[in-house]
Amino acid sequence: MKIIRDTINVATRRTYEILDITTNINNILEKSKIEDGLLVCYVPHTTAAITINEGDETVFEDLLELLKKWVPRKGDYKHNAKYAGIPQEENAHAHIISSIIQPSITVPITNGRLELGTWQRVLFIELDGPRNRRVIVKIIGIK
Ligand code: ZN
Repeated sequence: MKIIRDTINVATRRTYEILDITTNINNILEKSKIEDGLLVCYVPHTTAAITINEGDETVFEDLLELLKKWVPRKGDYKHNAKYAGIPQEENAHAHIISSIIQPSITVPITNGRLELGTWQRVLFIELDGPRNRRVIVKIIGIK
């Protein structure tokens, strides 16, 4: 049994942004030489999230538009009232969406590869950028 931990640094440039981090994750997996196991991808932030979906710009845009409609940036939020005027703290919408989507995903590893479907990619979701973010990748398995 082997356990690997690595970090992906993500510098987001927009308030809302989806970034495909699959290639970074595959590089970490390849370096680990683990053949069978589980890969956990975890975002240690309260205003970002991670999901798996198609790595297509139109999917990113449609998903972000729906999230903005569901949880608008401006609203009668207690969090925003408490932190009014503090830069980058009036972000209740981002906290809520982060919890709806969740901060982590798990993918099975078989024969040294992630068992992602043909169109599946691992997507980092920025909800209150631009910020410098980290994604923690943990791989547990056997060689
Ligand atoms: Zn906040």
